[in-house]
Amino acid sequence: MTQIFNFSAGPAVLPKEVLAQARDEMMDWHGSGMSVMEMSHRGKEFMGIAAGAEADLRELLAIPQNYKVLFLQGGAHSQFSMVPMNLLRGNKSADYLDTGIWAKKAIDEASRYCQVNIAGSSKDKNYTYAPSQDALKLNQDAAYFHFTSNETIGGVEMFWTPVTGDVPVVCDMSSHILSRPIDVKQYGIIYAGAQKNIGPAGLTIVIVRDDLIGETIAGTPTMFDYKVHADHESMYNTPATYGIYIAGLVFKWLKSKGGLPAMEKINIEKSTLLYDYLDASDFYHSPIAVENRSRMNIPFTLKEASLDEAFLKQAQQNGLLQLKGHKLVGGMRASIYNAMPIEGVQALIAFMKSFAQANA
Ligand SMILES: *Cc1c(COP(=O)(O)O)cnc(C)c1O
Repeated sequence: MTQIFNFSAGPAVLPKEVLAQARDEMMDWHGSGMSVMEMSHRGKEFMGIAAGAEADLRELLAIPQNYKVLFLQGGAHSQFSMVPMNLLRGNKSADYLDTGIWAKKAIDEASRYCQVNIAGSSKDKNYTYAPSQDALKLNQDAAYFHFTSNETIGGVEMFWTPVTGDVPVVCDMSSHILSRPIDVKQYGIIYAGAQKNIGPAGLTIVIVRDDLIGETIAGTPTMFDYKVHADHESMYNTPATYGIYIAGLVFKWLKSKGGLPAMEKINIEKSTLLYDYLDASDFYHSPIAVENRSRMNIPFTLKEASLDEAFLKQAQQNGLLQLKGHKLVGGMRASIYNAMPIEGVQALIAFMKSFAQANA
């Protein structure tokens, strides 16, 4: 197999060690004679796998006891509606930070259930930065405050948590969860689709504070009620069993690498390499404000958009895959999640240098 590096935004690269272990355990998990895919979700083997995954996630993120960890399905998209359905509780409005394409999707969905106050927006500069705390227009009657801590498409990351008084903070962390330590108690709800920085598509992780569970708006489907999932330990319906198993292996891999402080260090190192190169080059350009540059998703443009196609083709020939930017923003995007080794970033920069030279 030729060496490739996969820069996809998601579903995305997974640690080679995890894939190798999953391969070794594919036909016979720990002498059970079965693949994890074939196990009953209520059997003792799988219950053990799920409990282990939850315990390791709790340890990695230091999740306090008064938070539930839910392993759900339906992606971050379902959370866009599940959040208002569970948190409005008679309130008529919610505050949202408008930082880009994913924030906008959350706003549009919430608008079906309540009045959305835009508590801050970076639309004025085409979503190339995130508003600061000083710029927030908070509404103390809001049921909750929602923000997207890493805009996967725009490449804008917030390295701080908004302070909102008594209003619970809800965060879509889909594309940077587990990339650095966070202080869970600053949040009411954290949610993330697994397919960016955790595991396979099909699993959605929700970390929710106890007191925010249990009251839904009229007509909420059973499957959209956090309480139903919390009361059934995420086994009300058949959970995404294989996804939970792989996520559990990723959690163990993260622990073996030194946990989230170690991940943060390497993620700073990897992203700094690429940003430093972009800034030094007059052939490539990063449009994102320095203080909001994502460590996970790094969009950049070439001097001439007419060179994009050649860049992508030659990158692919060099084993550098899925660098095309999102169709809504164009250009390139390198997603360098936890599982992307530094060698991948070095190979990308080496290729970018030679491409720039050849096309100067
Ligand atoms: C990918 C992504 C989503 C959508 O996730 P789905 O699992 O496809 O629903 C939402 N928010 C962010 C920040 C994302 O990166």
